[in-house]
Amino acid sequence: MTTLFRCAVMDTPDDPFAGAALRSQQDCGIVVEQGVIRARGEFAEVRAEHPAAEVLDLREGIVLPGLVDTHVHFPQVRVIGGLGMPLLDWLDQCALPEEMRLADVDMARGVARDFVTGLVDAGTTTALVFGSHFASAVDVMFEAADLWGLRVTTGLVTSDRILPEPLLTTPERAHRESRELASRWHGKGRLRYAVTPRFSLSASDAILESCAQTLSETPGALFTSHVNENLREVEEVGQLFGGASYVDTYDRHGLVGRQTVLAHNVHPTDDELATLAARDASVAHCPTSNSALGSGLFPLRRHLEAGVRVAAGSDVGAGTGFSMLKEGLQAYFVQRLLEDRGLPLTSAHLLWLCTAAGADALGLAGEVGDLSVGKQFDAIWLLPEPGDPLAVGLGNAKSPEDALSKVFALGTTSDIGGVWVAGDQIAAGRWRRPPLA
Ligand SMILES: [Zn+2]
Repeated sequence: MTTLFRCAVMDTPDDPFAGAALRSQQDCGIVVEQGVIRARGEFAEVRAEHPAAEVLDLREGIVLPGLVDTHVHFPQVRVIGGLGMPLLDWLDQCALPEEMRLADVDMARGVARDFVTGLVDAGTTTALVFGSHFASAVDVMFEAADLWGLRVTTGLVTSDRILPEPLLTTPERAHRESRELASRWHGKGRLRYAVTPRFSLSASDAILESCAQTLSETPGALFTSHVNENLREVEEVGQLFGGASYVDTYDRHGLVGRQTVLAHNVHPTDDELATLAARDASVAHCPTSNSALGSGLFPLRRHLEAGVRVAAGSDVGAGTGFSMLKEGLQAYFVQRLLEDRGLPLTSAHLLWLCTAAGADALGLAGEVGDLSVGKQFDAIWLLPEPGDPLAVGLGNAKSPEDALSKVFALGTTSDIGGVWVAGDQIAAGRWRRPPLA
């Protein structure tokens, strides 16, 4: 079947940090066949070339690429909103007690359902998902993502010290369970495996070495973990690893490369930034989490000047929700608060961080991230209720850039009127597919 989407569309096929402009088209025609964008242009011209295509008229509202979340924790969906603590206290009191409950696979199945619903409702079609310490829970996460057809990369979270005993494993067991999960799920549909030590605070050299083995045995897998989030955490990691830098604790096991996405990096040294750039690794910037935990103000300018790839992540559940629009706005706030050290961000920068930069970080830039010919049709349709401030703002916007600024300032998950993955619509307003059990 051929569908011709008629819509106002905005995307960022080229990097605004390298000077590219927002791409905006008011009456755009996008031809989608078998999930792939086959043609795009002025609607009248595209229509003339595809007279038999079924037209889907989405002119009310704005179509954007599906949002990409490069750091989001599946087991933490039910503890979002635990405010008032720094990182290590929040882990002890909020996150880790909840994560231990995922030993129960029925509980994990419910959490996975809540989590995937959160992604879909927020218009997040691609995500690098921090998994669970329990292999059975990672299985149900993969099942849920597969059911919805989302582009999810996830894996078993591993640790062998410091955390509560039920969350610990051994290098041998971590390797065996990771390989079993990867053999079941890596490359199935839109799913991929991510080798995921929790952070080097809770991962010894032995378990990091087992991660390196799993990574080398799983071609196409990603590597993800945390780095330089909180000053007390950074100091403790330095003590545990004999004064090594946080990035080096991963790098000395060969875990930092193009396939690597490290979350936070709020407190990097210049040498660490140089290493990340040399290895072509990416950083997931999670601004609502950094703000909620008081972790610090992300040095985006230093990352970009060093040549490090940066994309955005929600870091649910320390982050305050699934909305990547909110993360984009908070990224803007953080740079404003840094004054001279900050980077002034336009709405095009925010869209880039929440779409194409994320696709690039996850090695999916050839497939998703913008709505160009040849890409998969992963898209969201912003459709605010008539009369609400976003609808009023869009009706009075002075330019496409201004309209997109209003989307980030005012847009919420309830403004998302439709979500498509590879041309399949999986949500429309309060309707979702598959229906909730
Ligand atoms: Zn995290």
